[in-house]
Amino acid sequence: MHRIVEGIVLRETETKETDKILTVLTRTEGKLAVVARGARRRRSRIAAAAQLLVYSEMTLYQKGNWSILDDASTIELFDGVRQDVELLALGSYFAELTELLTAEDVPAPEILSLLLNALYVLGTLRREPAQVKAAFELRLLALGGFEPMLECCAVCGADVPEEPMLDVVQGVLHCRRCVLEGRRGLSMPLCASSLAAMRHVLRCAPKKLYAFSLSPGALRWMEDAAEAFAAAQLERGFCTLDFYKQLRRSGGTLR
Ligand SMILES: [Zn+2]
Repeated sequence: MHRIVEGIVLRETETKETDKILTVLTRTEGKLAVVARGARRRRSRIAAAAQLLVYSEMTLYQKGNWSILDDASTIELFDGVRQDVELLALGSYFAELTELLTAEDVPAPEILSLLLNALYVLGTLRREPAQVKAAFELRLLALGGFEPMLECCAVCGADVPEEPMLDVVQGVLHCRRCVLEGRRGLSMPLCASSLAAMRHVLRCAPKKLYAFSLSPGALRWMEDAAEAFAAAQLERGFCTLDFYKQLRRSGGTLR
């Protein structure tokens, strides 16, 4: 029996001959492994849908434990991201983070919308990648159950800490002079406006996620803190992120 799902490809793995196994985040079934037979054949009707970061309506059938991709019609290719080597690297990092924070059989419609929207603002609206990256990381981590506590200093309770810092291991805010008890982590410095932007990103309606502006310096604080927070909470590094940063350093000339 066939079923139809909408989903975006988070990872493609080439297997024997012309096949691929796709990791797809679907709207209704959460994360799903999908076998795309013959997807690497030039004239395959599922070739377009079987690419990283393509969002499609997929017709699947079940064979044992496997979902097999029978047919697909693409909804959004995100060409603006795909055709820019730096944005594609950033999108791949978003996909890797998303894969880590979603599960099979657990629908995560908010996370799916977050990812689709991030790719749209990057590729079509051409928003500043550093801003999209920082907001995406924080919001995704929060939706995945890792929300930093930014309401006030965890030590003295000040709403607007003097020289605020984010302890990325414990996920709490503190003033530079307020030392956390049993501290074992790493604290990243913030400023008043980067802190305000981070609070906005955690509380706003989804459509307002990127509706903030920061000076380049404040954006840098936010970006560094969000990235360190994601790495500390998920307890790992990301090769897609390393690649993206390498590209940025080289001004996109790496091939
Ligand atoms: Zn304090």
